[in-house]
Amino acid sequence: MIKAKQKPLAEIRALIAPYQKILILGCGTCVTISFAGGEKEVGLLASSLRIAAGMDGLQKTFAEATVQRQCEWEFIDAVADQIKRADAVLSLACGIGVQALAERYPDKVVLPGVNTTFLGMAIEHGVLVERCRACGDCVLGLTAGICPIARCAKNLLNGPCGGSQKGKCEVDPEMDCAWQLIYDRLARLGQLDRMEVLQPPKDWAKDYDGGPRKIVREDLRL
Ligand code: SF4
Ligand code: SF4
Repeated sequence: MIKAKQKPLAEIRALIAPYQKILILGCGTCVTISFAGGEKEVGLLASSLRIAAGMDGLQKTFAEATVQRQCEWEFIDAVADQIKRADAVLSLACGIGVQALAERYPDKVVLPGVNTTFLGMAIEHGVLVERCRACGDCVLGLTAGICPIARCAKNLLNGPCGGSQKGKCEVDPEMDCAWQLIYDRLARLGQLDRMEVLQPPKDWAKDYDGGPRKIVREDLRL
């Protein structure tokens, strides 16, 4: 899932400074699981902003809403009236949700309340880790299901780099060397011969041509 963390309160306060009626809009999917932008975080942030505005003697109102997914228009349209009543929408969704709002409501100010950080998962409560960079040409079938692009500090397709020490990365000794993990798992699967297959340089021009990427499924189009 997409992982995100809430922006510092001071930054959010600076973003909303010109506006009086603010709708804080959460998203019930990825950012809820990241503890960054779900219903609970919307309520906590609204309380903090109300207190801060009160202490500064500012006449601001903060409405609250959370939709199931901010990246789909049918869900954000469910709160269209609240969006229209606000001077600005402070979105606690990922950058996709913010842009979905901006595209759907072109006359409305939309502000980001979180920093979208990576694609990943929780390995324990409160610890989120990156697992994918959405490179567009997945190599997990060659690397024992461990991503060398997201998990190796040098994004090496042919590793290890030579700096790995006792299974840890030379860039960050706290971090497991991704290529040690790949080696160990290939050994476990009896597929160590795959370590000897030299991967060609990734064709970033093909997989990521510098512009916004698009998937078109003609079979699903209406
Ligand atoms: S190779 Fe890594 S970055 Fe690319 S799609 Fe697969 S998991 Fe994601
Ligand atoms: S030590 Fe391992 S994870 Fe770190 S950069 Fe080298 S190959 Fe990548």
